[in-house]
Formats: sequence, C-alpha cells, structure tokens
Amino acid sequence: MKAIILLGAPGSGKGTVAERVRDRCAYLHVSTGDMLRDAVKRGTETGRQAEGYMKRGELVPDAVINLLVDQRLDAGTPDAGYMFDGYPRTIQQADMLAASFSKRNGSIRKVFLLETPRDVLISRLTGRRTCRACGTCFHVVNIPPKRDGICDACGGALYQRPDDQEATIVNRLDVYMRQTESLIAFYEKQGLLMRINSNRQAEASAGEVVRAVQALD
Ligand code: ADP
Ligand code: ZN
Repeated sequence: MKAIILLGAPGSGKGTVAERVRDRCAYLHVSTGDMLRDAVKRGTETGRQAEGYMKRGELVPDAVINLLVDQRLDAGTPDAGYMFDGYPRTIQQADMLAASFSKRNGSIRKVFLLETPRDVLISRLTGRRTCRACGTCFHVVNIPPKRDGICDACGGALYQRPDDQEATIVNRLDVYMRQTESLIAFYEKQGLLMRINSNRQAEASAGEVVRAVQALD
C-alpha cells in the first residue's frame, strides 16, 4: 500500500489537481471533504456529526475522520495506491495515518504542498460553483461552465457550497493556518515535502505533480 498526499489551503486547487492525477496515474482519489459531504447528503451518523462543523468552516473532530479513513482503507485492496486530498489536516490525523500505514506495511511516498497567495484563494473560493451530482468544480470567471448553472461533466445542477460564503471562507483559511500549516514542517522533516506553485492554471500545477508521481514508480 502506498500513498501520496495533497496538502494546501482551501482553494489551493487540491481537488482539481487530484482529478488530473487520478486520470493519469494509478492512485485512488480519497477526499475526506467529498466523503463527508456524501455522508451529510445521505444523512448517516457520520454526516450528522460532521454537518455543523462543516457549515462553520471548522474541522470535523479527528476521531470521526480517522474512523472514516480507516474504513476506506479496510475496504480497499492491500496493494492499492491512494491519493489523499484534504487529509491529513492535523498532526493527530498525520500520526494516525502513519500508524495505519505501518500496520498495513504501506509507505507515504510524497507530500505535495500547493502554494497560493491568500487573495487568490479568496477569489477562487467565492467564485467556486460545485456540481451537486458529481462534485466537479467550476468558477464563475476562471472556469465557467458551458451552460450557466449546469455541470459540463454530467449535466447536474451547480450550487455554491454553504461553506464557500465569504464569512466562512475567512474562517476556513484561519483554521488552515492554525491547525494544518504545522504539517508542512512535519513532512519537511521527513524529507517528503515537495512545493508546487499553484498560482497558475490547474493544468500547469497538475502537470508538475503528475510528472513527479510518475517518477516515483
Ligand atoms: P476545502 O479544502 O476547500 O476546505 P474540503 O472539501 O477538503 O474543502 O473540506 C470541507 C470541510 O470538510 C472542511 O472545512 C472541514 O469541515 C471538513 N473536512 C474535510 N476534511 C477534513 C479533515 N481531514 N479533518 C477535519 N475536517 C475535514
Ligand atoms: Zn456533474
């Protein structure tokens, strides 16, 4: 079992890069944000526990996330490659990931840090529109859908995530700085960190990640 991790602030383009890498490299995309939104939509116990935190832009408690990821890994094949997007987000989650990977004889191969200036993050998030059906993201200015309000990929309806409102965005960026940024030093010390300039077209940052991932295998 092997993994790569996409690390970066909300709006840094983790999801978009992940889609490109998934299409070109053999890594399963695991987005805890998507898993949580799905749990909320289905009204599961996890969804009920997570919903309030997500609306406020706070982190869902580590215990909930760790269980969710552990179940996902248990359901997978032992030799699978995973690409984590939006996970881990705290040192406690990173410790748990390290433990569950060593238990399964797995290794974390690389951590990609997507770096983007704060003002760019804010304009990306306020303009973001997400497909309710398949989760594909668009942007009202940067990546407009071909038809207003309609997903190019599946024809589903686009909506603005409740946590993409401006007040919540600022909170999410603060939460990232307070709780997630310490992971940069954590992975840098282990020699796993690679910095990616994410202040450009998704295609360019994704291409750099894809080449680095292909060089791993
Ligand atoms: P973004 O990176 O744009 O904030 P995500 O879809 O990754 O979006 O996350 C949305 C929300 O889901 C977060 O604000 C948080 O409430 C919750 N969440 C997702 N992943 C985690 C995680 N690993 N730990 C705690 N909360 C999480
Ligand atoms: Zn769609």
